[in-house]
Amino acid sequence: MPESAAFRDDRAHVFHSWSAQRALAPAVVAGGEGAWFWDEAGRRYLDFSSQLVNLNLGHQHPTVVRAIQEQAATLCTVAPTFANPARSEAARLIAEIAPGDLRHVFFTNGGTEANEHAVRMARHTTGRHKILAAYRSYHGATTGSITLTGDPRRWPNEPAMPGVVRFFGPYAYRSAFHASSEEQEGERALAHLEEVFTLEGAHTIAAVILEPVVGTNGILVPPDGYLRGVRELCDRHGVLLIADEVMSGFGRCGEWFAVDRWGVVPDLITFAKGVNSGYVPLGGVVLGPRVYETFAQAPYPGGLTYSGHPLACAAAVAAITVMRDEQVNATVRRLGEEVVRPRLAKLQERHPSVGEVRGLGLFWAIELVRDRDTREMLVPYNASGAAAAPMAEVAAACKERGLWPFTHFNRVHVVPPCVTSAEDLALGLDILDDALDAADRYYT
Ligand code: PLP
Repeated sequence: MPESAAFRDDRAHVFHSWSAQRALAPAVVAGGEGAWFWDEAGRRYLDFSSQLVNLNLGHQHPTVVRAIQEQAATLCTVAPTFANPARSEAARLIAEIAPGDLRHVFFTNGGTEANEHAVRMARHTTGRHKILAAYRSYHGATTGSITLTGDPRRWPNEPAMPGVVRFFGPYAYRSAFHASSEEQEGERALAHLEEVFTLEGAHTIAAVILEPVVGTNGILVPPDGYLRGVRELCDRHGVLLIADEVMSGFGRCGEWFAVDRWGVVPDLITFAKGVNSGYVPLGGVVLGPRVYETFAQAPYPGGLTYSGHPLACAAAVAAITVMRDEQVNATVRRLGEEVVRPRLAKLQERHPSVGEVRGLGLFWAIELVRDRDTREMLVPYNASGAAAAPMAEVAAACKERGLWPFTHFNRVHVVPPCVTSAEDLALGLDILDDALDAADRYYT
């Protein structure tokens, strides 16, 4: 097929995220419906990426599309100083589903801004400056959030925000603590965090920020008791807990928020993506009383022109309502346990290169290795170019068979829309099964 105008203009003028620009050849996406999308040549793909783990309700959900159209016909924008029905209702719905006593919402345009503001709120509230952030985390690409980020995307952007101190979260498969069980990993990770508090001086720490279930860095589900332990540790020292639920929230884990699974109530929750399935950019911070009261009399020194944008909020109202009425969380839990977990276990039996499978809800990782005993990664940490070829081959094998995968370093993440049918899930996992032969060829 000859190059289309869309492709030519893209290559001539669009500067893409995170990429060397010259060699890019992005697929030109023409449309989508539910768990599927198609390119301009009509080639259809089952979307096992949810467009950066964003599109929880799938492509073109009619209720959300209609809500945006109706809001656009009524009022496209209004400054954040005003009240507006879409914004008010979105805030109320989010407050209703938020855990514990988190009742107020500060809206942003996405996840990274939410984390920037959460950090500022925490610093103002406590009068302290240090923020503890985990290795193997992603918190966004603006200056503060990229500093919080505990993966290689931070390196070329350093130095950035001062006051960020790093700690290890639990990751039993590659334990930093030489733990031999999930339980021990959780206990040792907590003891380690407590030691970081001591060595840094707990009275200098404003907040701990963490992804309750780590997303891009490996779908790391914490051992039971870990998050509760972090909460208690923070409480003992007057430190705020910020849960970054940008990826894990709004159905991805089969809960409104991942923390709900362990009954933990953070001081601040940051969200984006699934709040309206990314149909219009929206994120935000949900505030608990301690932070809210700090700004009840004194002004909060921060804001955004687009905070609580009516189109984005109308989409959020529709998306949350659909999720609630159609009980999407329960469906995600069932699909995760009844379809994904057993089939991934089979993949692990069949493919020597599958070192570990882990996850919950529709949030899973397949970790690929060259050797199960040594756990040598199929491609090295932060591999690119020729070093990343085995993963590129797995991704290409998926795409040839009509599956759009999400790959990161030595992992394939299984993160389809929350509305994917059991049949499509099974189809996608069958395709993955075939595609993983490409990884097995590198097994030593
Ligand atoms: N936090 C987490 C956990 C994320 O996964 C992401 C994006 O993937 C972000 C923050 C940044 O969100 P955004 O890209 O909307 O700025």
